[in-house]
Amino acid sequence: MTDTPQAIKKTCCKRVFHGRSFTGHPCGKPAKIEHDGKTYCGIHDPVRLKERNDAKVASERAHWARQREQNERAMVIVTENERRLALFDEMLETLKLASSIIGHPDDAVSQSIVELIAKAEGKS
Ligand SMILES: [Zn+2]
Repeated sequence: MTDTPQAIKKTCCKRVFHGRSFTGHPCGKPAKIEHDGKTYCGIHDPVRLKERNDAKVASERAHWARQREQNERAMVIVTENERRLALFDEMLETLKLASSIIGHPDDAVSQSIVELIAKAEGKS
């Protein structure tokens, strides 16, 4: 825009809404830019509004993408924990069977099996 007296008088054409007004009223702030034949103040500049909105949408999409990745990682952990839990009883019974077969010699492996069984059964 030029700095002619006529241009200085131009005001923002954007309709704003306050309170209970359903029709709103023109912004009325001094126009700073002209876009598609209409004048706008710096706040209602449609190009800046679109840029800000696009940046906000991109930020929100990035946030939700990170959130989705976190949820997917959490589900992998939950699934793995459930898989391990499902094997617990079978592994404990196998350890008890191995312990009964090898007896209770004083070697480190046998002692580890006995201690592991006690831990698994909540006895240590
Ligand atoms: Zn305005």
